[in-house]
Amino acid sequence: MSAIFAVANQKGGVGKTTTAVNLAAALALSEQRTLLVDLDPQGNATMGCGVDKRSLKTSVYQVLLEMADVAGARQVSPAVENGKLHVLPANRDLAGAEVELVDEERREKRLKEALAKVDSEYDFILIDCPPSLSMLTLNGLCAAHGVVIPMQCEYYALEGLSDLVNTIKRVHANLNADLKIIGLLRVMFDPRSTLTAQVSAQLEQHFGDKVFKAVIPRNVRLAEAPSYGQPGVVFDRAAKGAQAYLEFAREMIERVRPA
Ligand code: ATP
Ligand code: MG
Repeated sequence: MSAIFAVANQKGGVGKTTTAVNLAAALALSEQRTLLVDLDPQGNATMGCGVDKRSLKTSVYQVLLEMADVAGARQVSPAVENGKLHVLPANRDLAGAEVELVDEERREKRLKEALAKVDSEYDFILIDCPPSLSMLTLNGLCAAHGVVIPMQCEYYALEGLSDLVNTIKRVHANLNADLKIIGLLRVMFDPRSTLTAQVSAQLEQHFGDKVFKAVIPRNVRLAEAPSYGQPGVVFDRAAKGAQAYLEFAREMIERVRPA
């Protein structure tokens, strides 16, 4: 059985896609069979894995509308040589899914049902959610066993967190009893900032061991990588940001399958 994690935070630009892409690639580099699901019409995770969103014949959109299977829509990421990173890609079509699903039955469970058919083929399935608590994110949360929440250690980060935690609680109560918060990941971390240190300490106090030990620093190589169609961990493996994501992947594997 695969471990399915949604990378979610309704706040925009907090590092969801960077986390989803780099964790997925790092897991694949560790020989874990990994599927990255792009649930954002922006298609950034798709592009970040070297798959061209402009030339997709089938994408996650058709999967949600039950016009295609995951097996027919996924692609092998050309960015990871061992072929262990697969992508269920997205592009702007996906923006229409929200409206088109409104009158459909089991609309929040479409992704869950589609992924069930490929479950045995993967060790990890990661879902990159869009920056909203929409039907798309709801599909991600219904399909997942756990949520990974990337966050910047700044004052407003904590405010947004309570909305997300409440949504996760509601989904847990009504739609998906498996769902739990796997952990909070500190990203774009600036160790020189006093505020960062304060917020980081508050997080640890409040969430205890739900805060991942791995910390992702602000690192320009991670931001440059997508324009080469590569995850940061492939583009410049030695860079501080890449090393942090590789460390995070090891922590993740350890949490899921303790030695
Ligand atoms: P959205 O809400 O739009 O989907 P997101 O939460 O997925 O955004 P990203 O796209 O991953 O966020 O990151 C936002 C921007 O910050 C991007 O330009 C990305 O390259 C940059 N970025 C992310 N993480 C880091 C980091 N650790 N160091 C430097 N830049 C980063
Ligand atoms: Mg994103």
